[in-house]
Amino acid sequence: MHVVEELSPLLIRSRQGDYPVEFRATIGELVERLLEVPEAVVVCDSNIAELYAGELAPLFADRPTRLVEANEEAKSLAGVGELVQWLIDQAAVRSTTVIAIGGGCIQDLVSFTTHIYFRGIRWLFVPTTVLSQADSCIGAKSGINVLPYKNQLGAMHSPREVLISTEFLGTLPDIEVASGYGEIVKLSVTSSRHFLGDLQAALAEGGLRNPHLLALTRASLAAKQEIIEADEYESDLRRVLNYGHTFGHALEALGGHQIPHGLGVLWGIDIINRLGVQWGLTDPQTTEELAALITADFDYELPISPSVEDLLGMVGRDKKVSEGRIHFAVLRQPGDFIIEPRAIDAELGEQVAIALNESRVFTRA
Ligand code: NAD
Repeated sequence: MHVVEELSPLLIRSRQGDYPVEFRATIGELVERLLEVPEAVVVCDSNIAELYAGELAPLFADRPTRLVEANEEAKSLAGVGELVQWLIDQAAVRSTTVIAIGGGCIQDLVSFTTHIYFRGIRWLFVPTTVLSQADSCIGAKSGINVLPYKNQLGAMHSPREVLISTEFLGTLPDIEVASGYGEIVKLSVTSSRHFLGDLQAALAEGGLRNPHLLALTRASLAAKQEIIEADEYESDLRRVLNYGHTFGHALEALGGHQIPHGLGVLWGIDIINRLGVQWGLTDPQTTEELAALITADFDYELPISPSVEDLLGMVGRDKKVSEGRIHFAVLRQPGDFIIEPRAIDAELGEQVAIALNESRVFTRA
């Protein structure tokens, strides 16, 4: 991986307007750019505001700022209502830009709210977690909770610009770093811009907080870019982004949402790979390489051991099920996917039992 490559910006094409993803070495440099945005107001994760009070002070002093606790209540209909009220209080108009600073929670809250406020105002995103930097910051999706249900409401709303500094990640807890890597592992094999070899080398060199994280972030975004530019509004191609998510989501739900999302995805990747091998689709060597990478670099043990019945019961409730069949995103080998519709039946149950028995991901050695 080359440093120049790492820092060169990406330009994401979107039907709502193309937008750049730019990289800055320090938060100070990023703040300089933010101070240039005209008519801006700021919505910032309250933890970030406290941890980076010094670096962000010039911005907070200059722009109306709202601090929000990043949790699932914040990105709910009630949270949207509170933010709308605040925007009204700030006399925000069509030409206002909302700068969002935080992880996926703040992203979802701001992208959805700015989508509906005055039928759409601009927003700019400064992601601060591995998940939001390497994955969710592009693709324009938002999800708002109607609690207790997650992500029931959504809108597609591209940001005007994404500005990334990995300096934020120094304070991100290890478990959040590991969870964010779930999507990096997924993206390392999902498009023609696959980079599994680079990922293996970077992890072998320095574990999850290796010096190449910025390059891996850029590589993940470039891989996702290829998919979303070809298919911004989720038809067949974009389904590859669900790789690992069907069983991952089922596991997360069975674990009462205590299992971090990205770790659920990593487990789901191993299960679908093992099903793919049984279906004669997935390359067994790639399956073992990915399993070895996950078990070597992610120190986690599942708090539950789900039964086949519970898993398939949960998979059957996935919003992607239609007419009793589920469309699995199945990896053949890096960069080569097939969308495989399968009935949720006894045969699938037997195959899942074999996959569970074989999998060593997040189980006690
Ligand atoms: P988050 O926004 O939920 O934040 C997790 C915790 O980390 C919070 O306590 C936050 O304050 C803290 N935090 C954030 N950055 C920090 C930093 N640099 N240092 C220290 N602490 C920090 O984290 P997330 O994982 O980015 O987002 C998860 C949310 O994103 C979920 O609600 C999920 O549904 C949503 N999501 C959205 C998309 C999308 O495309 N819109 C995709 C995936 C997930």
